[in-house]
Amino acid sequence: MSSQIIPVEPFDYVVFGGTGDLAERKLLPALFHRQLAGQLTEPTRIIGASRTAMTHEEYRKFTLDALHEHLKAEELEESEVAKFLDRVHYVSVDAKSDQGWEDLKKLLDQGKDIVRAFYLAVSPSIFGDIADKIRDHKLITKSTRIVVEKPIGRDLASAQILNDTIGKVFKEDQIFRIDHYLGKETVQNLMALRFANALYEPLWNSAHIDHVQITVAESVGLEGRVTYYDKAGALRDMVQNHILQLLCLVAMEAPSSLDAEAVRDEKLKVLRSLKPITPNNVEKLTVRGQYRAGASAGGAVNGYQEELGATSDTETFVAIKAEINNWRWAGVPFYLRTGKRLATRMSEIVITFKPIPHSIFGDAAGRIEANKLVIRLQPDEGVKQWLMIKDPGPGGMRLRHVSLDMSFAQAFDVRNPDAYERLLMDVIRSNQTLFMRRDEVEAAWNWCDPILKSWEEIGQKAQGYTSGTWGPSQAIALIERDGRTWHEID
Ligand code: NAP
Repeated sequence: MSSQIIPVEPFDYVVFGGTGDLAERKLLPALFHRQLAGQLTEPTRIIGASRTAMTHEEYRKFTLDALHEHLKAEELEESEVAKFLDRVHYVSVDAKSDQGWEDLKKLLDQGKDIVRAFYLAVSPSIFGDIADKIRDHKLITKSTRIVVEKPIGRDLASAQILNDTIGKVFKEDQIFRIDHYLGKETVQNLMALRFANALYEPLWNSAHIDHVQITVAESVGLEGRVTYYDKAGALRDMVQNHILQLLCLVAMEAPSSLDAEAVRDEKLKVLRSLKPITPNNVEKLTVRGQYRAGASAGGAVNGYQEELGATSDTETFVAIKAEINNWRWAGVPFYLRTGKRLATRMSEIVITFKPIPHSIFGDAAGRIEANKLVIRLQPDEGVKQWLMIKDPGPGGMRLRHVSLDMSFAQAFDVRNPDAYERLLMDVIRSNQTLFMRRDEVEAAWNWCDPILKSWEEIGQKAQGYTSGTWGPSQAIALIERDGRTWHEID
């Protein structure tokens, strides 16, 4: 099985925050992989931009270190590395003053006619400053785009301000709001499963699906994101973006094509159909949690507040029973959960079908489990379809729940690209299908804001859970009250 690489037009990628964690861990390695795949054409350049004073050579050394740190030694073929480093440049630029902007302009003027992309891998608090400087220094050409990282705001009002600020300088079709979950192979596979197979779609509704679970579990704790995380919490950090995007892809109607507007129109309808959570039902439908000391990856770890060094009620875990008020999904709960310091790092979507209406098998056959479709996003991306079969061999009819297992790593002899690789190239191709449109981001806040406000209004506290477990017992009760259980991770 070979992969198909479509080269993209040459480009200048300006990475604001070029010396930051995201650039070092994700963006530079992803761009290098795209070069290895033969996707980059000449005279493509990658331009790091941040305040630190650095020469081009020093930034090339930073890039080389990043490649060594985050790629396998066998991927670092000498001539490819040298070619990549030739593409790398650096400008010291301050978003908040005029320092460096003329240098950046001079460098960019050498590539006036090629695609230009500004990647804002910086705090959202300086998105507006950077957009204004880009405009004031006349850096926008006819093929310029801007990429912005989450978080887009901390509530609807701040998201609208941020969108207005960027929208004053860039048109909506130039703005790429990245949610790297949408670049994951399995997430795109969800669309293939649903819309390239006749098998599932007739069953994809409340008549045949009992419920849906979406879990995004991290095993790590704060990891140096102290200032940001304590002000955000799990709902803002994970649910408003990644989890709601996954929910949209599961629940949306078939778009008329893969065209960006067609797909995003359908996702928007789902977000607008989410049943509001209010002070009257918030306690029944949501659980907030915060990790306490425990064990993670075999070692003892501190609780959230010890890591933070302060008292805090910020949630590091949230579980929600969401409902979609439309014809397809009325009455089908979507159980969502995400948290830090959980038992393992794992993201998956579980579609549980309804039980069979009548069993012809006697008690000796054993319990007949419902069919499940499990879409694993990380680690070990793949899909499992759980079915009942007859236990092989003599001894009467005994039934067993088994999975038809498709691990992508085993099924395809190709490297599984990081989500950023696909998305960075989509920006150059100007394909917005896997990026969030302004109205989607705002509709997601429109559903999350009342949850945040309701928590505050009724004083719903974060329940403690031991690090290395699956969250507070209340999260188990949330689903078991309905006679269901969280899918056991295998
Ligand atoms: P980081 O490591 O703190 O890096 C921030 C970068 O911004 C640094 O390169 C810094 O360099 C630069 N910077 C700060 N002030 C500046 C200014 N006034 N002018 C120009 N550059 C400035 O942050 P990060 O983790 O890379 O995250 C960047 C953004 O991506 C954040 O919005 C974050 O929420 C988002 N994000 C990150 C990740 C991740 O995995 N890291 C994942 C998803 C989203 P100087 O100090 O040299 O200026």
